[in-house]
Amino acid sequence: MTTTTETGIKIPIDLLPNDGRFGSGPSKVRPEQVASLDLVSGTYLGTSHRQKTVKSQVGRLREGLRALFELPDGYEVVLGLGGATAFWEVAVFGLIRERAQMLSFGEFGSKFAKAASIAPHLGDVDIRKSDPGSAPVFAPATGIDTYGSPHNETSTGVAINPRRAPGADADALFLFDATSGAAGLPVDAGSYDVYYFSPQKGFASDGGLWAALMSPAALERARSIKESGRYIPAFLDLVTAIDNSVKDQTYNTPALATIWLMAEQTDWFLANGGLSWSTARSARSARNLYDWAEASSYATPFVEDEALRSNVIGTIDFDDSIDAAQVAKTLRANGVVDTEPYRKLGRNQLRIAMFPAIDPDDVRALTRCIDFVVDQMR
Ligand SMILES: *Cc1c(COP(=O)(O)O)cnc(C)c1O
Repeated sequence: MTTTTETGIKIPIDLLPNDGRFGSGPSKVRPEQVASLDLVSGTYLGTSHRQKTVKSQVGRLREGLRALFELPDGYEVVLGLGGATAFWEVAVFGLIRERAQMLSFGEFGSKFAKAASIAPHLGDVDIRKSDPGSAPVFAPATGIDTYGSPHNETSTGVAINPRRAPGADADALFLFDATSGAAGLPVDAGSYDVYYFSPQKGFASDGGLWAALMSPAALERARSIKESGRYIPAFLDLVTAIDNSVKDQTYNTPALATIWLMAEQTDWFLANGGLSWSTARSARSARNLYDWAEASSYATPFVEDEALRSNVIGTIDFDDSIDAAQVAKTLRANGVVDTEPYRKLGRNQLRIAMFPAIDPDDVRALTRCIDFVVDQMR
């Protein structure tokens, strides 16, 4: 493909990545996943979600996630509709008993904190905030029954290490929003009570669903809150979601294509070696990106602390002399898309997804394209 842009810059074909999708969500879906959907288009799509054809795929997905994340006995894979955004409300109604502490270091963490803060049935939320590009830590305190944080803050490219904070109440729950982190970043099942995500990022699928890996303590908390008689909207009822999920169903009609694509991606990870393989792939992409930026005369990783630099979302600041928006626009006109930064961050930067579906060699090719474009702009 050779297109010309408004700036007139045409990237030579041999520099272009094989696949030009670097968006942070929806993100690259592998062509093989889409092709596999065609094989079952006449038997699976357009059939009842209460029958075996669909239930067996929900079962395949749940089994696949259980294997990928090496869930201990007693943990459940729970599915529901509405994505991670809906799951925040599910947690507000069905997991937080009274008081939560939330880490807020970007758009997504702040949204969950806000959802809990404005809920009339909960106490004040203890929000631990830090500037974009950094991350706060939990400050365990008596009476906090739920702790929440993003695993990876998609708006800034900061990733934390999800784990329980020592000193928390023995029955406190730890919830991690892994919508962009899941599959691309390491995690240990012993270090969370709920690890939840949407399918359109690390799982190279489409939006609209949420998946939550739940510990026995979290399952128990959901039941005890429901039994307390608290008002819970039916659509956000976690116990209903749990009871449906163990039967390989969802409360209301799910997107069947999304389930299929997600199950295909999960099985692809497993066939290649599981979570250690998928996380190593993202780590390789990240090395390609950050090594390039460190060596570049005009680009710098936005996240200064290397320990917080995400392997799945790379944010790269540009010198004032170069207009990153113009670079993104030129890339887009050449078929390399969605490198624009998170709009509300307002920085002169590019944001590049490095989910496991994305080929590390394509990330390297992208850096060469950026160098070419910048050189031409100068
Ligand atoms: C994208 C994203 C969300 C929102 O996911 P939806 O599926 O749009 O609800 C929530 N949290 C994080 C960390 C995300 O990256």
